Amino acid sequence: MGRDDGRTGMKLSALGRRLTGGSGTRSLMDDLGDVATAGGGLVNLGGGNPSLIPAAERVFRIRMQALMQRGGAFERAIGAYDAPEGERGFARALAGLLRREQGWDLTERNVALTNGSQSAFLALFNLFAGPAGDDGDEAGEGSGGAHRPRRSRRILLPLSPEYIGYADTGLGPGMFTSRRSTITDLGDGMFKYGVDFEGLEAVGDVAAICLSRPTNPTGNVVTDGELARLGALARARGVPLIVDNAYGLPFPGIVFGDAAPAWDEHTILCMSLSKLGLPGLRTGIVIAREEIVSALAAVNAVFCLAPGSLGPALATELVESGEVLALGRDVIRPHYAERAERAVDRLRAGFDGYPVRIHEPEGAFFLWLWMPGLPITNAALYERLKARAVIVVSGQYFFPGLEDDDWPHKRECIRISYADDWSRIEHGLAVIVEEVRRAYDDG
Ligand code: PLP
Repeated sequence: MGRDDGRTGMKLSALGRRLTGGSGTRSLMDDLGDVATAGGGLVNLGGGNPSLIPAAERVFRIRMQALMQRGGAFERAIGAYDAPEGERGFARALAGLLRREQGWDLTERNVALTNGSQSAFLALFNLFAGPAGDDGDEAGEGSGGAHRPRRSRRILLPLSPEYIGYADTGLGPGMFTSRRSTITDLGDGMFKYGVDFEGLEAVGDVAAICLSRPTNPTGNVVTDGELARLGALARARGVPLIVDNAYGLPFPGIVFGDAAPAWDEHTILCMSLSKLGLPGLRTGIVIAREEIVSALAAVNAVFCLAPGSLGPALATELVESGEVLALGRDVIRPHYAERAERAVDRLRAGFDGYPVRIHEPEGAFFLWLWMPGLPITNAALYERLKARAVIVVSGQYFFPGLEDDDWPHKRECIRISYADDWSRIEHGLAVIVEEVRRAYDDG
């Protein structure tokens, strides 16, 4: 029986209640909607929208024009369903690029497409986590007998804070578990999170390990050493390591220091066209071993028949020619690296004499501000900023699976995007500095 929500007469299932019950992702997307309808009135340092970079937009426009002019290409792109694993020409081009550039041993059979990588996570998490499938050896330990409860396994998020979008993707409850990240003080008002490997050892019933690298919300790039160790931990447990590479290498390439991408048969590498500047095309990419690609095709068939065709149609030649790498290296990465530097300079100058810390921006396009001992919560700070027409994201949403409510850290951080127009960011940063200082000074 569904439940009546009491206002509209709409009878929702338990899942319906959970999905509509006010997720962090939903409030974030609502804020984005407010920004869109308010026109120029709000300063958007909130959402995950990439910058509109003219040099990148020109490339996409040229590709779209070429698609329109090539006989029948446009009609094919909009007039037919692709295979449920996604357009194969694009998959071949991408597998070729990754073989050439990274030396990875893969073919198009290792590539699945989804409607944005957000839907890839929805599919992957639910493929692996939850009550175990009926494969005969998954019953709860020591419970004995024919009616043993099935063991439920969870997605282990080795970093906390971690991407808000993972929360609420579980079709069942309790999908995630996590451990606090370690904190290293880098001096000069900067810090960096790390993986607490000892803490992870103790976590049982793991279905897969997943992290974003670069990490949204922090701009962290876990080191190559940490990534290799997480891979070894996953292999030792016989579970996949899911690496969310939405901002990473080889494209869009929003990584400011040295870090190598990695893939093998035990890794599921999720990529996306969104942060290149194409979020409207909703194209997610999963690089994985063949049986996982087949499983994703099956999920696509059920959820949406087939992923959209326009993203692959627009991007195939960019990928085939390798131009996508140059776009990342010469246009997108420098754009965000320069923004990060300027934004950090502003904040450090503004917070001189205050205990505010900034996570070292190593990639993506966010600054993560930690305000130890702030007399008000981050949620209250968010409201004060919103009252001054500056939208950020309050940090408490970025701890999916961390059942550790005593950690003051959860209430001491905010995420600031630096993707919007610089003049607006500059104004927004000045307001943030004023409001945070006021909170420290006067509560
Ligand atoms: N992963 C991370 C870390 C993100 O920040 C985002 C979007 O902001 C996504 C995945 C999902 O992106 P999309 O569904 O547009 O590919």
